Amino acid sequence: MSQTDLVTEITKQSEDFSRWYLDVVRRAELADYSPVKGCMVIRPYGYAIWELIQRELDDRFKATGHVNAYFPLFIPESLLMREAEHVEGFAPQVAWVTKGGDEVLEEKLIVRPTSEVIIGTMYAKWIKSWRDLPVLINQWANVVRWEKVTRPFLRTTEFLWQEGHTAHETEAEAHEETLRILALYKEFCETVLAMPVVDGQKSESEKFAGASRTYSIEALMGDGRALQAGTSHDLGQNFAKAFEIQFQGRDKSLQHAWTTSWGVSTRLIGGVIMTHGDDSGLILPPRVAPYQVVVVPISRGNWRETVLPRAQEIRGELQRAGVRVMLDDRDSQTPGWKFAEWEMRGVPLRLEIGPKDIEKSQVVLARRDTREKAFVPMEALVGAVTMRLDEIQAALLARARAFREEHTSATNDYEEFKRMMEGRPGFIIAPWCGSHECEAAIKAETQATIRNIPFDSPAPTAPCLKCGQPADVSAWFAKAY
Ligand SMILES: [Zn+2]
Repeated sequence: MSQTDLVTEITKQSEDFSRWYLDVVRRAELADYSPVKGCMVIRPYGYAIWELIQRELDDRFKATGHVNAYFPLFIPESLLMREAEHVEGFAPQVAWVTKGGDEVLEEKLIVRPTSEVIIGTMYAKWIKSWRDLPVLINQWANVVRWEKVTRPFLRTTEFLWQEGHTAHETEAEAHEETLRILALYKEFCETVLAMPVVDGQKSESEKFAGASRTYSIEALMGDGRALQAGTSHDLGQNFAKAFEIQFQGRDKSLQHAWTTSWGVSTRLIGGVIMTHGDDSGLILPPRVAPYQVVVVPISRGNWRETVLPRAQEIRGELQRAGVRVMLDDRDSQTPGWKFAEWEMRGVPLRLEIGPKDIEKSQVVLARRDTREKAFVPMEALVGAVTMRLDEIQAALLARARAFREEHTSATNDYEEFKRMMEGRPGFIIAPWCGSHECEAAIKAETQATIRNIPFDSPAPTAPCLKCGQPADVSAWFAKAY
């Protein structure tokens, strides 16, 4: 395959962003369709990104006092039925198990769409006294939600995630936990994924089924659509009452616990692709790049005797410095083909080394994000590589922030709002009265939903965009994935 074939295999973003996304997922071998409708296979390159995401998040959860555990995949029907809003919210998406072998089950089981009910049942057994609180457990797991329309990483019937479930003595502590995790998610998305997010509270109609309050982080993708990147729910005492999570308080009275739940999923990988990618393919932030540097030896003359040994030494040096390196020493492909291939796969830095470079004791470093090339003396190589990786990480965040700012506007006028949503979508900040009717009408007419009401959102200075009644808040609207 030639270099041009590689490039033409990816649709241009400007032609069809959605097609571009699917092309990148397939060509970069992040995921593939499976024989099971709506379910994807996460391929090794995509899974390596997930492992890096997991490690970074897991460290953060543990540093804030959480521990991991594992609960069953199956949930008895009767448990799901105990929290009324929760059932109503999840029932249409539930996969059922009705038979085990030949035997029809006495009680049907569901495949977990989320684990509040099974974990709540266990917490009711474990929590007896205020001394048992807080309980701060996280689970890394798969969940199943029967989806009609699916797209790799963004929406699939089965997906991987983490779900935190905590129980607390007081309402204030549970609320503090909900917001602590939201802040943790935001910091993670921005420093590790270089993906800026808007943090705030969901409207009533967008909140989690059974929650008192839901908070989210929302990112803006390259096509101007928003992506809900993570959620944190303050469940109040709703689940504690449904599942009898009760404890003896400090004053000896019997009280219901206050619980929270929160999660992020493999959807984040879709977010990374659509935040940073370009017409040549993927651009990975160094902190989640399976390979941060690809070493491409220039295969001229007797390069296996001359260039390759030096390339191998360089790989060793970089690995000892903690850099993730791929040395592409394949004979079957030309250097030009390899350049295009690793560019398409989003490797942040390419290191080229040929016979002339060895004579001059230098290498070429090429950045994926800016395509800048520089000669670097070999003796200063490790420092130059790690410095550039940090620069790329920061530059990607800055670029994504600038893009979001360019695609965020404000209006008090509904006609203008409609025109903006049709033309160049992005976030639109607009005054909203808080009524579900206005929110639903705006959604029906423009496809835009309230993504959230940011914590730092200024008080509205104009009446509700839709109905003209006094507005409570400035909401952030967008068309969303
Ligand atoms: Zn209104």
